[in-house]
Amino acid sequence: MITSKEYRERIKALKPNVYMDGELITREDPRLEPGMNVIALTYDLPHEEQYERVFTATSHLSQEKINRFCHIHRSPDDLLKKQEMTRLYCQKSGGCIQRCMGVDAMNALEVITHQVDQVHQTEYHERFLDYLRYFQEHDLCANCAQTDVKGDRKKRPHQQADPDLYLRVIERGKDGIVVRGAKAHNTIAPYADEIIVIPTRFLTPEESDWAVAFAIPADTEGVKLICRPTAFRPRILLDAPISHFGDVESLTIFDDVFVPWERVFLCGEQEFGGALALLFALYHRHSYTGCKPATSDVLMGMAALVAEYNGIEQEKHVQHKLAEMIGVAELVYAAGIAAGVQSQQAPSGTYVPEVVYANTGRRHAGESIYREYEIVADLAGGLAATLPLEGDFISEETGPLLAKYMMRNPEISAEDQHRCFRLINDVVCSAIGGLTLIAGLHGGGSPVMEDITLLKNYDMEAKKKIAKHLAGIHS
Ligand SMILES: Cc1cc2nc3c(=O)[nH]c(=O)nc-3n(C[C@H](O)[C@H](O)[C@H](O)COP(=O)(O)OP(=O)(O)OC[C@H]3O[C@@H](n4cnc5c(N)ncnc54)[C@H](O)[C@@H]3O)c2cc1C
Repeated sequence: MITSKEYRERIKALKPNVYMDGELITREDPRLEPGMNVIALTYDLPHEEQYERVFTATSHLSQEKINRFCHIHRSPDDLLKKQEMTRLYCQKSGGCIQRCMGVDAMNALEVITHQVDQVHQTEYHERFLDYLRYFQEHDLCANCAQTDVKGDRKKRPHQQADPDLYLRVIERGKDGIVVRGAKAHNTIAPYADEIIVIPTRFLTPEESDWAVAFAIPADTEGVKLICRPTAFRPRILLDAPISHFGDVESLTIFDDVFVPWERVFLCGEQEFGGALALLFALYHRHSYTGCKPATSDVLMGMAALVAEYNGIEQEKHVQHKLAEMIGVAELVYAAGIAAGVQSQQAPSGTYVPEVVYANTGRRHAGESIYREYEIVADLAGGLAATLPLEGDFISEETGPLLAKYMMRNPEISAEDQHRCFRLINDVVCSAIGGLTLIAGLHGGGSPVMEDITLLKNYDMEAKKKIAKHLAGIHS
């Protein structure tokens, strides 16, 4: 396991291929720092004894202690620990921990490469295991680039006016393949070691060129990362842990990129494209049952704190709203626990979360996030939006006046009350707050995707039978 210092050095040594606001930048650019600070947590905390049980694992390949973000889930307990780990990390970063993409993609590839080999006598699984050894040994950090830009949403990949709107293979050679296309909204990509590419959707027999999965270093020739940063607002004097964090997403362009065969894990076996897409989504939705309760924890903590500072904590409507928030956080978490406990072992030996519970949890989380923001905004009042800038609190002329007039509870210092509202302002009334809302809704698939998965995997006929029995219907 490496440390964050080694991680940062490795990322900063990558060749420049990150574009931001019209410029080609290096990975030393300060706009990448808040995101790297989040990932740094995942490299440093596993070395601390109190976190070792959850944040590290034993590799089933090398029997070495590894970072759990590089681990393949070989038991239901591994899935439970991944979920617990995700919640703990997201509480610390105040938002998405970002490194879950990689572990979710690696687990999906471990299972599917094995299945493809059984049917096609290919050698993807051995290749993948070699990559996994390398991944674990170097404690790599990966983005999963799944979401294609997709063009006309109602058209399939082969029906698009431009076939590159879904990433595809354009050449197959002796040493490897050449791919072209673009993947959207790629979290962590500019400060990840590797980019793991998998398909977005089910593919038809004429779509074998789009059935491709591979992993490449993030600075591979032809890869262009067009990035947009978001971070919590920097502070002047009122330093706080959250003000160091942020994230960056990229539109990742694959401009005729060569991928050597040893890094190709699916190429042409179209019937497995959809299976891989869905399995990654399942692992990722299970990760959401860890991260989303942490987002709820942050929102709930702020709601309860500001209610206390406003002197309204014991009011009935406030208690009801706090109980509602507990219901969201813990039901989503419980669904993830159920998905872990009822996980099934795939033929490769890896455990796969139970699909109905994982999707129910993710669905409930996505549905509730706007409501949770509403509760915080409700209990905080307008100051959540109109809090004066920090400089006005520092100013000798206006600072004491602000301290006097924002005072609620005289038992609590003006600085702590200011800190509470600044946190709320940063989380619910900011660019990153808006991003967290949309990520909560669309991350892991738009809401309808969970509905489709649930209805496909749920025995609705059995429910109709119950109703028929109770109604005395015998047909
Ligand atoms: C902050 C953030 C981070 C993300 N990080 C990653 C990442 O690291 N890697 C990654 O691969 N992805 C990532 N995603 C992408 C995420 O998975 C997608 O946003 C999600 O799958 C929706 O895809 P889309 O954005 O293309 O929206 P669209 O698919 O365009 O959805 C827009 C609307 O159209 C509907 N729609 C789409 N197609 C159809 C259709 N055929 N028929 C009917 N209705 C349709 C949808 O249901 C939705 O209501 C991230 C997203 C966000 C917001």
